[in-house]
Amino acid sequence: MLNKKTVDDLKDISGKKVLVRCDFNVPLKQGVIQNFKRIDGALPTIKKLLEKGAKVILCSHLGKPKGQPLPEMSLAPVVQALSERLGVTVKFVDDPKVTGEETKKIASGLKDGEVFLLQNTRYRIEETKYGKEESAEVYAKELASLCDNQIFVNDAFGTAHRAHCSNVGVTKYTKENVAGYLVEKELKFLGDALNKPVKPFLAILGGAKVSDKINVIENLLNKVDSIIIGGAMAYTFLKAQGIETGKSLVEEDKLDLAKDLLKKANEKGVKFLLPLDHVIADKVDFANKTVPADGIVKNTQSTSIEADFMGVDVGPKTIAEFSDVVKNAKTIVWNGPLGIFEIDQFSKGTVEIAKLVAQATDNGAISVVGGGDSVSAVKKAGVDKRISHVSTGGGASLEFLEGKELPGIAVLPEK
Ligand code: ADP
Ligand code: MG
Repeated sequence: MLNKKTVDDLKDISGKKVLVRCDFNVPLKQGVIQNFKRIDGALPTIKKLLEKGAKVILCSHLGKPKGQPLPEMSLAPVVQALSERLGVTVKFVDDPKVTGEETKKIASGLKDGEVFLLQNTRYRIEETKYGKEESAEVYAKELASLCDNQIFVNDAFGTAHRAHCSNVGVTKYTKENVAGYLVEKELKFLGDALNKPVKPFLAILGGAKVSDKINVIENLLNKVDSIIIGGAMAYTFLKAQGIETGKSLVEEDKLDLAKDLLKKANEKGVKFLLPLDHVIADKVDFANKTVPADGIVKNTQSTSIEADFMGVDVGPKTIAEFSDVVKNAKTIVWNGPLGIFEIDQFSKGTVEIAKLVAQATDNGAISVVGGGDSVSAVKKAGVDKRISHVSTGGGASLEFLEGKELPGIAVLPEK
């Protein structure tokens, strides 16, 4: 059911125009690209199309210009990085209308093996209004007409949870729609983990809020053998069981829900592991990601947290308890850090678990890490290369774990 047609299924595309939706939403600082992962991730699909002799038109959004042609969100910085990597001079025009006259002219005059990058698809306000406003239908048509309404490839997993003109709308007007290799890879790893996991199947969930991850927990409770809960989310579960949590981030309005989830886990025989001890601090400067000079940081002796202190990381007993479960798991899905890992002093729990996940993977487990902060965390731990699959889509991977159908994927036909 997630066996989508891919670029491998495209026949006889030599000399044809192919429109590819990429995820070039790269982090920029004063116009300089800070991380090339997304550009590198798009290369296999583009190279394959060039190999097959296609004329390649690329499109992507970058940031949230909300219909304004903001120069700081121009895709211009991507052009050079892409040209260098492909060994082809990528054509580009700073077209505030994205599909304006100059763009149409270049697209129609493309020769075999040439690559053309369109300007930021969100320079047009219609991009995010697909299905809501008639003008979006027009924009989707304009995008499709650039490739003569022929072939569209969606390789932007990071946007797959959105139904926008450049990933969903356009498919209505193109003849053939397929997934790119990056999307294929994401679907394979996330899909296999959820739908045919090798047991024992472990989910590690953390991060700031229970409310962000309720649907993920609900969905995973039907699939996993164990769930490890860390991060601020753990305190809502602890408090729901009557444990003192001091000043820790607790979502008071989610206490009943937490109780309910604990009950469900119990009924389903899912092992639900919560922290046994904690690193606690009386002051945290969240804005500057530091502990103030007069701040007190210590370990708790038990599960409860004294008044005036907040839980900021899992403690050593917890790491020891979690470690056996991680080591024995054969499928691991991880979303959300176990502490305020951005602050070095509070990163130990997350880093240790990341190392254990890497070790389990070395020993044959399949591991999938999703979520923007979680990906940074496995990098910080220096183990990202040892994880089976590090998802490129934050929101998209989360919605996938919730069991939702992603609109950008749903419109692509099965093999
Ligand atoms: P992801 O981006 O991987 O989905 P989230 O955005 O849900 O993860 O959560 C990451 C955030 O959770 C981080 O900024 C981290 O500092 C925060 N966090 C983790 N543990 C705690 C804690 N004990 N108290 C406050 N914030 C926490
Ligand atoms: Mg996050």
